[in-house]
Amino acid sequence: MDKEKIMFHVKGLLEAIGEDPDREGLIETPARVADMLAEVLEGTAYSNHQIAEMFGKTFSAEDNGSDEAIIMKDITVFSYCEHHLALMYDMSVNVGYIPRGKVLGLSKIARICEMAAKRLQLQERLGRDIAEIISEAAGTPDVGVKIQGTHSCMTARGIKNSTARTETRTYLGSFKTDSDLKKLLD
Ligand SMILES: [Zn+2]
Repeated sequence: MDKEKIMFHVKGLLEAIGEDPDREGLIETPARVADMLAEVLEGTAYSNHQIAEMFGKTFSAEDNGSDEAIIMKDITVFSYCEHHLALMYDMSVNVGYIPRGKVLGLSKIARICEMAAKRLQLQERLGRDIAEIISEAAGTPDVGVKIQGTHSCMTARGIKNSTARTETRTYLGSFKTDSDLKKLLD
């Protein structure tokens, strides 16, 4: 990520909104914003395939005794909406998959969700990205992802409905047709 370029443009942005970028409270702001963006948009540098390889350490499913669906709920992530560069917060991700001989470590599932969220996103696409990465990392076609999130571009402006949450679901493989599997994500 080009931090020098971010600093240059954040300074210009401050001027454009009528601020004095040289006043005491703002003098360090371009550098702080550049550092923050490098951190919260870290996933921009990686493809879904690269994230799957990064966090794809698996265990043999025999150790876990079954091929029943594995569900992990309430993974908290933050992301930024690509339409307004606005924070999407209070986001909770539920992930389910049916192992085909390989089981992902639980912490790896959370890291996958976090890294996919660290991009300019749309909530629907974040769900698809997570499903695609889990599918590749675990080597299974059967993945479901449910996301609930609050978008500050909606709650902080316009109708100011501060409690509105958006729910999106992504189903791959048998999650598409099996209503019992879908219910496991609730
Ligand atoms: Zn938005």
